[in-house]
Amino acid sequence: MDVGRLWAESIKKGYKREQGAYGMPKTAPRGADGGSSTGISSHADDLCPSCKRNGRVFCPHKPLLAIKSELAQVLSKQEVFGPSPPNVFVGHFGYPQVLWGPMVSLSESLPDNPRDWYGWNFEQIVRARSMQVRGKKEGAVSLASQKSPGLGRQPEVSRMLSDVQEAAMSVKPVDMEIKFTKVPTLEIEFNSIHQPMGASAPIEKLRVAENSKIPKKVDSIVDDGSVKAADALRILSSSGFDEHYLTKLLSAGILGREEHRKLTPTKWAITATDDMLAKQHMEKLRQMKQSSQFLLYSNEYLANKFDILDLPGAWEYEGFEAWLGPSGTFAVSEEYEPHSGRSDYAQKQGGGYYAARLGVCEGLLHVQKRQARSIVFREILPEYDLPVGVWEIRENVRHAFQNKPEKFTSLQEALSFLSHSRLRLPLSAYLEKSRMLSQTRLPDF
Ligand SMILES: [Zn+2]
Repeated sequence: MDVGRLWAESIKKGYKREQGAYGMPKTAPRGADGGSSTGISSHADDLCPSCKRNGRVFCPHKPLLAIKSELAQVLSKQEVFGPSPPNVFVGHFGYPQVLWGPMVSLSESLPDNPRDWYGWNFEQIVRARSMQVRGKKEGAVSLASQKSPGLGRQPEVSRMLSDVQEAAMSVKPVDMEIKFTKVPTLEIEFNSIHQPMGASAPIEKLRVAENSKIPKKVDSIVDDGSVKAADALRILSSSGFDEHYLTKLLSAGILGREEHRKLTPTKWAITATDDMLAKQHMEKLRQMKQSSQFLLYSNEYLANKFDILDLPGAWEYEGFEAWLGPSGTFAVSEEYEPHSGRSDYAQKQGGGYYAARLGVCEGLLHVQKRQARSIVFREILPEYDLPVGVWEIRENVRHAFQNKPEKFTSLQEALSFLSHSRLRLPLSAYLEKSRMLSQTRLPDF
């Protein structure tokens, strides 16, 4: 299955995430919890008038003023020279004609892998995103293919792309010099759809100092030119490369058969990589012993609560995503896949479905060391009004499996605990949509 393509189709159809009442005017913040452990700080004094009015818990606008003035000092010119966290960004608007280019960090100490961002609060995440300057170049995604018809006429662009690709393949930061056509500007949008991005501007020139470090394995697969993208991902993940690195390779159009290589919008590359890695894990899971336990793994970060219920039996997966609005409103979506897997795109939850499922597969494989029937309950609290990206979901689930699970002797006992001690929504909101719990009788709760 080509998740990227399916995702693109769902966008064309004008599909929108089921949001229910989310986004309606909000009531006042629910008091200060000051909880840095959940990534939310909620001091009324930190809120601007607009955020106070809208009942936000985190005000992105005030820290942004400070960030902007810090940035103005380092971003006053049309040139940037910095250790690029070797990253690339490919947009999806206008596909197959897209904006692509490198990301250069303005701070040397900033980790590039969101795995390392776990535990940060909203402000730290906005700050980190703001410190990455994005260079933009417009072009067709087929630019990445050696046989792209336009390439011969644009040697400059071709060189630029191979420099960006080299930076993306490097496992250590690369010194990169970029000349923009104008001074990059920071235009952070704060809404519930887009995650915050740093300043950006079109690129005029780009130069990579020769200090990249490309692993032999990657180099040989790329040079070979006959390995399909899916196979390349499989081989490299078996060699220990993680989803973050693989996503970059896929996005930069480095993988796949030479004539088929293309730039992949970053958003799609993230989902495709999460999907592929989980599929690989599922193949192993289906061969493993079946769990005989009722276990509940839980974690909460950035106003996202995760409860993962693992039941005895053969691998099967169900994911719930519940958006909790103010004054008790909510919307729940459900996605399911049977033991053999699914072939259609999980439209109702998009990339979040694939990120959560990857975390669960890893947990079963490495922590439980058993296959099981897994059900994920994700409750998104009203305080999550600044989406940060699906890495939050993946890391939330991963951390849930690092916590000690609750153990039960029966499904009834597990559901009763979930209902009384964990879930904010009534259990019935899930049971009425559940395919894995469809046999469960409601009156029992
Ligand atoms: Zn504000």
